[in-house]
Amino acid sequence: MQTGDTGTLCPDALDIPRILMLTERLYYNDSSLLEFDATVTAVEEQGDQALVSLDRSAFYPTSGGQDFDTGEIFGIANGSRVRVIDVQEQEQTGDIVHRIECPPGWLQAGVPVRGEVDASRRRDHMQQHSGQHLLSAAFEKLYNFPTVSFHMGDDYCSIDLATEKISSTQLESAERLANEVIAENRPVEIRFATLDEARLMGVRKIPPAVREKLRLIDIHDFDLNACGGTHVRSTGQIGAILLRKTEKVKQGVRVEFVCGLRAVSTARRDFQTLSDAAAAFSTQLWELPQQARKSLEEIKTAQKAQHRLLEEVAELQAASLLRAAEQHPSGSGQKLVVQFFAERDLNFIKMLAQKLIRLDSVVALVGCGGAQPSLVFGQTPGLPNDMGALMKETLQKLGTRGGGNRDMAQGGAPDADRAEHALSEAARTIG
Ligand SMILES: [Zn+2]
Repeated sequence: MQTGDTGTLCPDALDIPRILMLTERLYYNDSSLLEFDATVTAVEEQGDQALVSLDRSAFYPTSGGQDFDTGEIFGIANGSRVRVIDVQEQEQTGDIVHRIECPPGWLQAGVPVRGEVDASRRRDHMQQHSGQHLLSAAFEKLYNFPTVSFHMGDDYCSIDLATEKISSTQLESAERLANEVIAENRPVEIRFATLDEARLMGVRKIPPAVREKLRLIDIHDFDLNACGGTHVRSTGQIGAILLRKTEKVKQGVRVEFVCGLRAVSTARRDFQTLSDAAAAFSTQLWELPQQARKSLEEIKTAQKAQHRLLEEVAELQAASLLRAAEQHPSGSGQKLVVQFFAERDLNFIKMLAQKLIRLDSVVALVGCGGAQPSLVFGQTPGLPNDMGALMKETLQKLGTRGGGNRDMAQGGAPDADRAEHALSEAARTIG
């Protein structure tokens, strides 16, 4: 599905005269009309697709934030039907163009067809778009937040409100008011008016460049707004409005929402997600936030405890390695410790190397396997070797990355075996 234009509101409400000359827009007067007869006025074939213009159409083209309809076109002469996969307004002429999937030569100008709009997609769009009018009116009535754009996506819709911030109480109040108007099942009517008439009628948002008459959507005693979209006949058909995430955007605050059957499927999905999470914690839904915070605290405490234990293990290990290490025969006084730990990680061998070089005059060459095989080379400051250079040389052979300075360096290895092998090679250069 293509996304709607977020920059404008309902622009084709402006163009009554143009429409009379081009495709007659059947949805203009009746949003519930889903089947219609028409004559093909133009066909442009594009491989296994074609762009088709009709003298009249109930298919809504993408505009004013609302997505296009899909459906089928039935060729009356050849007795077969094809899919309508996209409907757009031609930019220069304003004509409605239907993209269909069809074999070459399937349709010619002048032939009669029957159009059938996909009912569930249209109903969904009507619920979202009418819900948007209601929600925009609710925010304007309650808090004087004007709507500056509307977007209809695959999963959710959004409006951008011209305000710096919005509180959760404001969100809840606007949601409640909009749902009350839905429950009241107020009539929704299409009206036409000149610009002057529209101003007198108190239309919520008047488009900037009106040539002739405006098409108005009138939610009885609640909202009157210029719009070219398809709408429900009464507010009850919207079903429900559920507000979701809010987000600060350049032009104000973006409020995500879903209406009608989407509201139900979204609430169902949320409930399932929460239920799965609650089951993982063996708790009730409403205790989930508290339980999650508690678990995070426990994880932090356990991590601290684990760190302390590792320190102790490293301390003991360092002492025992030093006891076993032999004095270097060069007479420099340095001891050489070379050790590979198949199950430990980089964090541990770094800790160990640091302890070793503090305890005595030591060159410590240590490595680990684990998830990320690594090497750490360290020496007690003041000893004459260059750990950085030794590491660089080792990593060149391994083809991996790393680095360090004279006294401490680290790097990665492609696997545990090569890490262990590189360690003994490095030890030979010291020994
Ligand atoms: Zn609209």
